[in-house]
Amino acid sequence: MSEVSAALLEILRCPRADHGRLREDPPVLVCTVCGERYDVIDGMPVMLAGEHS
Ligand SMILES: [Zn+2]
Repeated sequence: MSEVSAALLEILRCPRADHGRLREDPPVLVCTVCGERYDVIDGMPVMLAGEHS
């Protein structure tokens, strides 16, 4: 199970410049603004934005 709690979803924001809210799209979280996907491991989102250097 890799469900993110509703309370956590409320406060999570995309770490990229847009700081968009995230929505669940199991098994990942997706930024509602930029569409970046974040893995969820043991219920904890891995908030590492892809670096495009
Ligand atoms: Zn984003």
